[in-house]
Amino acid sequence: MKLAAVKGFRDIQAGEVLARRAVLEASCEVLENYGFEELELPLLEKVELFKRTVGDTSDIVEKEMYTFEDRDGSTLALRPEGTASLVRAYLAAGMARSQPEGRFYYQGAMFRRERPQKGRFRQFSQIGAEMLGRSDPAADAEAVTLVADICEAVGLREYRVELNSLGDDACRPAYRKALEAWGQERIDSLCEDCRSRLQRNPLRLLDCKVEACREAMQGAPMMVDSLCDDCESHHGRVNELLTESGVEVTANPRMVRGLDYYCRTAFEVTAAGLGSQDAVGGGGRYDGLAALLGGPDIAGVGFAFGLERMVLAAAGQEPSAPPVDIVVAPLEERALGVVLGLARRLRRAGKRVEVESPSRSLKAQMKRADRSGAACVLLVGEAELEAGKATLRDMVNKADHAQLIELDGDAEQLIKCIGEAVKGGA
Ligand code: AMP
Repeated sequence: MKLAAVKGFRDIQAGEVLARRAVLEASCEVLENYGFEELELPLLEKVELFKRTVGDTSDIVEKEMYTFEDRDGSTLALRPEGTASLVRAYLAAGMARSQPEGRFYYQGAMFRRERPQKGRFRQFSQIGAEMLGRSDPAADAEAVTLVADICEAVGLREYRVELNSLGDDACRPAYRKALEAWGQERIDSLCEDCRSRLQRNPLRLLDCKVEACREAMQGAPMMVDSLCDDCESHHGRVNELLTESGVEVTANPRMVRGLDYYCRTAFEVTAAGLGSQDAVGGGGRYDGLAALLGGPDIAGVGFAFGLERMVLAAAGQEPSAPPVDIVVAPLEERALGVVLGLARRLRRAGKRVEVESPSRSLKAQMKRADRSGAACVLLVGEAELEAGKATLRDMVNKADHAQLIELDGDAEQLIKCIGEAVKGGA
């Protein structure tokens, strides 16, 4: 029986690895220009961390976490998201005092037992950023600006940033009640999920995709119309700052986000080319989170992008592996040691070098060299060993330069000599 990978977990092939790296590098550069530092966080956490922060009624905690009992009886979870871990790490390192206005980012695998489909996996990667210790609207606006700049840097096609406010402890409870009452009056039209969410998390009724639920929620009260004065002025200022700084956002009063810890600003980025899972990233403000973890009352705003979806949405500009510069071809076993040494020197000088196998015929070696795209081949056979010089075959002009390249020359001299021999450089 062949062993297959676990459902929802995939192998990432070389081409996609390159595309992921390009997306990560572009994102990291933007993040660092904004003054964010990278932290590396563990994959395993105590399950309590997510129960307390992401929320007992969220889909993630209710049905998507991979949890297991460790040998000491504690229950651990493979992390389903990064914000809770980052805030835990920030508090654990005493940064609430040493770096109260910290800017951090993280990247890596997350795990959620969702139904796999295009752009949705059980192991996926996120790159996320958190701005701690700032409760002013300028921080929200800067986070959204950063999100837009990452989308631009990565080359996302037709992306859109949607913005909403989820209120806070002062105004959300009354709104929740109003929404619950609205749903209760229409309970017969709601899907199974929405019925069970009605009391536990009525906000989720707003983003249900089922047509009957959407119809039932038409005309329902919206959080943005029920904000308290503080939340309203915060939201107004965020919008103003974004307009003034030239970042385009679309108001989406139905966007609620799946995690419990958000308050006030929430945003989501969607992009073309993703099918039904069109959210590439999302985030918002989470002022109560540090206190939920037993820390001081530290405000925060952040977001996470899904790497797989960014790669899909940036498709069309796939990077390919850089071409081989030089092939070194040992024509017999005896030449192998010298050839490996020569290749090593060239590689250390930054050249991409492939070493052929003496078990292949000259013809076969040349055919492979041709396919590699290398500009030249250094051939080392009996005569070359004798002379201490490799023969250079110029693959561009199809010309041989017999015994031209010093086998024990230093890399700089070798590269200069190769460059002069091959028109256009090696
Ligand atoms: P969230 O942490 O739920 O706000 O998700 C942030 C981003 O992570 C989403 O916009 C997606 O791009 C990505 N994401 C979330 N869940 C998955 C998944 N199961 N598979 C792939 N990407 C995901």
